[in-house]
Amino acid sequence: MAIQIKTLEQLKIMRKAGLLVGQTLELLRSSIKVGMRTDALDAIAEANIKRGGGTSNFKGYHGFPATICVSINDEIVHGIPGDRVIEDGDVVSIDCGAIIDGWHGDAAISVGVGSVDPGDQKMMDVCEESMWRGIAAGGAGVKLSNIGHAIEEYVKSQGTYGILQEYGGHGIGTEMHQEPHVLNFGKPGSGPEITAGFALAVEPMITRGTHKTKVLSDDWTVVSADKSRGAHFENSYCLLPDGKVFVITALDGGRSKLGALGVEISDLLA
Ligand code: MG
Ligand code: MG
Repeated sequence: MAIQIKTLEQLKIMRKAGLLVGQTLELLRSSIKVGMRTDALDAIAEANIKRGGGTSNFKGYHGFPATICVSINDEIVHGIPGDRVIEDGDVVSIDCGAIIDGWHGDAAISVGVGSVDPGDQKMMDVCEESMWRGIAAGGAGVKLSNIGHAIEEYVKSQGTYGILQEYGGHGIGTEMHQEPHVLNFGKPGSGPEITAGFALAVEPMITRGTHKTKVLSDDWTVVSADKSRGAHFENSYCLLPDGKVFVITALDGGRSKLGALGVEISDLLA
């Protein structure tokens, strides 16, 4: 399947969807507390997406029953919200997506709740920074695999972490998951050239142990095979006709984090 190249007008709509996702994740980050059930987070997300004029792209996706994924500790991605109660020191990964006028946004954060283990906090910080490094490496005119290479290089420079291999980022547009698949590891210089109109979700998933995973009997929840804790960060970004990037799911378009890495952000979606 060909990579969907978006026009500036289409990317403007994707920014609306992305902004709603980013705002919903910030609301969840500020709402999450010890003692809360994970389905309470789901209800907050559902209401906020509705209030913002969007619909969930997760609910009903291959039968997924909820608005967000909530994955705790050794659960890395695709956890189903329910009656599980968040405990002190939990690492909670929340993945959220929304559709506005047929265009998708997709992003994820990991949040430490209460007294967080310093090693868990470092893992989350490394995962988040690797996502920004991946986006920074994915500018106009470079090959797609440069993104995964930058992610892997940064993660490896920071310690011994497992980088999940069976899961990765993706193109995004009129579907949540499009071509191309975006690996979180590998050699630079291969794959399609990134050009204006690309929109990609970059989403490293790492653990404090193995990269190997298992899927629980609910057929969704992905856990680390060695029960080590994991983190997941994701943003959706695009390449604009001016040759610059913009992170559609970041409240500031990626200005602060990418600016620190020397990347210029487009003004075309401001
Ligand atoms: Mg996601
Ligand atoms: Mg995604």
